[in-house]
Amino acid sequence: MWTNYHSHCNYCDGKGTIAEHVAKARELNLRSMGFSSHAPLPFDVPWAMKKERLENYLADIEAVRKTTAVEIYKGLEIDYVPGKVSPADYERDLDYTIGSIHMVEYFNNGKPWEIDGAATLFKEGLAEIFNNNYRDAVTRYFELSREMIDKSGPTIIGHLDKIKIQNHEGEYFSESDSWYQHEVIGTLNKIADAGVIVEVNTRGLYQKKSHTPYPSPWIIELMRQRHIPITFSSDAHRPDDLINQFQETASLVFTLGYRKISILRDGSWQPVNLTPDGIA
Ligand SMILES: [Zn+2]
Ligand SMILES: [Zn+2]
Repeated sequence: MWTNYHSHCNYCDGKGTIAEHVAKARELNLRSMGFSSHAPLPFDVPWAMKKERLENYLADIEAVRKTTAVEIYKGLEIDYVPGKVSPADYERDLDYTIGSIHMVEYFNNGKPWEIDGAATLFKEGLAEIFNNNYRDAVTRYFELSREMIDKSGPTIIGHLDKIKIQNHEGEYFSESDSWYQHEVIGTLNKIADAGVIVEVNTRGLYQKKSHTPYPSPWIIELMRQRHIPITFSSDAHRPDDLINQFQETASLVFTLGYRKISILRDGSWQPVNLTPDGIA
């Protein structure tokens, strides 16, 4: 049995209605699931929900709750952009928040630099904003992650090391570089202190944009040593991906020593037993 709290429907850049996602969740016998559309942003980006749709989004989730045996929860994936938007801005209306960093600093024209978009866009920002210094860019990404935890404490940290998406074949750096490990470990220590959940996100795997989940196995191992709670997420952008790569990931996470994962049950986060085949 599975749960998934990271899903995007047609309220943002996902495909399929809320009802279609719920029907698939029922078919897959999910214990519970949550919706996490990209929260409205103070920038004009095609992938975030429009502000005026937020009320309908919440009402649609509320309505579907009563129609299915799957426990359904209200969430948003919220960016942290200093002085502009943070997970705390939306938490009041939600069962949980996913805090993610997709944007690091700005181009000279004022547009935010998206770090997980096209490779050409990534290279442009790297050159213009960071003078092609990849280490500075990655360091800033993790600094922002830590700042988000300090200032805004989301329920779940979204795709912790997503910046590696641009380093698919190790073009820019090695994850064993000491500076990189230093950034990751500093972030994990803050996460452990704050008591937030880290998702193990499978999207890079089934999109074939990463050889490993977000975060990488060596990071999951360090998380386990720090007793950081985890949950599984597919970051689905269509109903068919709701549990994509979960089987393989459960097996990996089990091998790395995790025996519990956190799920939303009866309205609160609870640790439940994990087996290599899923939630017991
Ligand atoms: Zn994301
Ligand atoms: Zn997402």
